[in-house]
Amino acid sequence: MAAGLPAAERFRAYGPRQLDDIAVRFGLPDDVRETVRRLSLVLPFRVNEYVLTHLVDWDRVPDDPLFQLTFPQAGMLDAADEEQLGKLSADPGDRLLLRDFVGDVRARLNPHPSGQQQYNVPHLEGSALPGLQHKYHETVLYFPGQGQTCHAYCTYCFRWAQFVGDADLRFAAPDPSGLLAYLAAHPEVSDVLITGGDPMVMTTERLRRHVEPLLGVASVSTVRIGTKSVAYWPQRFTTDQDADDVLRLFERVVAAGKQLAVMAHFSHPRELETEPARRALARIRATGAVVYCQAPLIARVNDDPAIWSALWRAELAAGAVPYYLFVERDTGPHEYFKVPLARAVEIFQAAYRTLPGLARTVRGPVMSATPGKVVVDGVQHTPEGSFFQLRMLQARDPALVGRPFRAPFSTEAAWLDDLEIDPATPPDLAAALRGAPPAPERAASETTAPEASVSGTASSEPSAPDAGEGPEREAAA
Ligand code: SF4
Repeated sequence: MAAGLPAAERFRAYGPRQLDDIAVRFGLPDDVRETVRRLSLVLPFRVNEYVLTHLVDWDRVPDDPLFQLTFPQAGMLDAADEEQLGKLSADPGDRLLLRDFVGDVRARLNPHPSGQQQYNVPHLEGSALPGLQHKYHETVLYFPGQGQTCHAYCTYCFRWAQFVGDADLRFAAPDPSGLLAYLAAHPEVSDVLITGGDPMVMTTERLRRHVEPLLGVASVSTVRIGTKSVAYWPQRFTTDQDADDVLRLFERVVAAGKQLAVMAHFSHPRELETEPARRALARIRATGAVVYCQAPLIARVNDDPAIWSALWRAELAAGAVPYYLFVERDTGPHEYFKVPLARAVEIFQAAYRTLPGLARTVRGPVMSATPGKVVVDGVQHTPEGSFFQLRMLQARDPALVGRPFRAPFSTEAAWLDDLEIDPATPPDLAAALRGAPPAPERAASETTAPEASVSGTASSEPSAPDAGEGPEREAAA
């Protein structure tokens, strides 16, 4: 720990089993506590001491955006499912029924959106590679097996399937050997995104084993680390026992001539207001890493232009780069959190207009959909009617990148699938947008996709999402 920093707080994660203690400490009403308990049978629930004491405003619960962000809420599941969950969970004799029901509800929540399992799993010499995704030409996603939890769980998480204890739903690589072999065969890959979960739940020693081998791969120019740790546990970079070690590791990446991009996830400006978060960002930047910030637009959490304006300004002031405003993905409690595209454009543009030029690095609203990243550039009013102006920011097929198209305006549409693509769209683009399977040789067939999961022991207990209730920061993978 560096001199001048406050004494270390030990990381403690809390899950459903600590809910009663949380309720007593923070005055959580009984009905809210019971709802959280019930919903957490299906959706992952995990918070920690820092989230509870620095981020949630308990005077505003249950409407507080940080409470909505981290505690499962009534309305996140279909009403009939919630009712059935209540009945089954109240009867200790129905554990098997409850387990099957929970599995059924999860399966209906689209656990792997955007064709992740069907199309993103790369193959090498005919075999699927566990814990990797290769969607875009130049970027590979790498899911180290020991980094597949987070310091707290976002209720809107698009990777919630990583946390529910079902090995068939999980992307996880046991070690970097498969990644290195794949990179050797694919010199077009310049960027490796180490992701999860959150790779920063790993001790520095473990993280090092995944990062250092990349430094010898000449074709890789950028190592990205996707993390929400600055928001949920900034002590990872300040007072944790190995906080200094992780900064030295970052410096080593930079010294090796690679760009280190910390892809930081901030959902609300409050996450950047705390002293630990500001200090963490300053220490990360001092290593030579560049911090890019991104988050989805979420009803009840940040669906207000003033929130985004404050967030992007705070990021800029901290020396970080506002990067993406995403559209809430079509997975998990999507119905609860979704913001129609028409409203998303209004929010993005209203916030964007308030920004100084240096913060206008941000792109949005962006749908990370099956064919690629689609940005809604605006709404066009013509004599034929009103249209969303859309553009492929990124695509599985590089030939589609940058291509504009349009779709009739709708006040309800909240995802690409809800739009009717204009019939005048060029055939190759239209086919991709309508969900034609991608052509590259790396695409997995649907029948082989499940091999991408590491095998594990499926829990015979009902759901029990991995709340990670143990006291250690390290994922017990
Ligand atoms: S930090 Fe990211 S991976 Fe973790 S729960 Fe939140 S959205 Fe999901």
